[in-house]
Amino acid sequence: PTYFENSPILTKKNHSVDHNHGAVIAKQMIGDALRQRVESIDHESCDPGDEDTFFVGDLGEVYRQHMRWKKNLPRVKPFYAVKCNPDPKVIQLLAGLGTGFDCASKAEIEQVLNIGVDPSRIIYAQPCKTNSYVRFVASQGVKQMTFDNADELRKIAKLFPDAELFLRILTDDSSSMCRLSLKFGASLDATDDLLGLAKELGLNVVGVSFHVGSGASDPLAFLKAVQDADVVFKQGYAHGFEMKTLDVGGGFSGDTFETMAHVLREALDEYFPPHINIIAEPGRYYVSAAFTIACNIIARRTIENPITGETSYMVYVNDGLYGNFSSIMFDHQHPVAKVLRTGARTYYDSSLGDAVSEGTCTGTEYSIWGPTCDGIDRITESIRFDHELDVGDWFYFEDMGAYTKCSATKFNGFSDAHDVIYVCSEPGARAILRL
Ligand code: PLP
Repeated sequence: PTYFENSPILTKKNHSVDHNHGAVIAKQMIGDALRQRVESIDHESCDPGDEDTFFVGDLGEVYRQHMRWKKNLPRVKPFYAVKCNPDPKVIQLLAGLGTGFDCASKAEIEQVLNIGVDPSRIIYAQPCKTNSYVRFVASQGVKQMTFDNADELRKIAKLFPDAELFLRILTDDSSSMCRLSLKFGASLDATDDLLGLAKELGLNVVGVSFHVGSGASDPLAFLKAVQDADVVFKQGYAHGFEMKTLDVGGGFSGDTFETMAHVLREALDEYFPPHINIIAEPGRYYVSAAFTIACNIIARRTIENPITGETSYMVYVNDGLYGNFSSIMFDHQHPVAKVLRTGARTYYDSSLGDAVSEGTCTGTEYSIWGPTCDGIDRITESIRFDHELDVGDWFYFEDMGAYTKCSATKFNGFSDAHDVIYVCSEPGARAILRL
């Protein structure tokens, strides 16, 4: 619980950032990085892989999101959900900023421990854990973990009786993009018995956790979950547990953050007195807008409409649903292509955006497809651009930081390892990373 106070960075009180100014600088830096990289490729003679998809990651954006978090939820200590994007520089920056980490597997825990993060700054937030992983975390002193069922309690009693346990409860996540309560969480009918069993097994329950669903849109889901957590805290006290921490999970997004934070803040103040520690497990909130991806058009097929005489194109790019656009499938995203002009035609204007919005009738119609042989591998069904696109042109897609690269596959032999060009639009983040 003391990691926040101990962080050398945060005690300097350097949390003020100018978000608008930072965002303008970021656009410029990202644009420059995209253009420089693309212009350095000779498309006529390059080796296989040279024209591969690549990311531009702005670590300044992660920094700004952290400062925004601190301003809006000063009581809530973020434990970044590594699964969302285990980018090593993001992890390093957040470690420097003093956050904790929500890890769900041995590999994620190792990644965080290997950069010197104290085990007390990790929560193993996976209610159904692999036996050998439990033995591993016991050996590493990663004590905080979640559970939501009786079998898991028996497992923990056998393998790691000293663990500090959080009872994960069900939430109403029906208005979220990715529902998690279908799979995890104890209902309020079951919590009292579970706490009784934990007591019987001599285990140490220290708190409650919940997750309102990833991409949550109803702030009242937080209110209801906090109220339920209050009920379970009282059950815990009745069983003699020293309940000291509430984990409010993830589900935050950049677009709705202030509204969500407002409801959560008020609910916490109403139900949980100041001596209770509050932690959270935000993932997409931190990284979604920090990463932009660039993809190359590798092939084009011309379609003539026999009735209207209109010409449209199917364009094939070197990344798709089996790659970094896995977010379309798994995370219900709709990435929007913008055109990055290259060579003599190069320009980048992110303030205007090059895409005519989907659904409008001006410009030429394109559909955008991934490189694999599967028909499902389509990024965009229909989009119109004012200018004609051909093989060798590049698209870029913004907001590609969350649940993209981490769930990419190697299907059809395409690489799942793509370069990340880092830029940093905030001096505070540069100082932490010594850039
Ligand atoms: N915590 C847990 C247990 C999760 O399962 C997830 C996402 O699946 C997260 C945190 C991160 O959620 P989000 O990216 O919506 O903040």
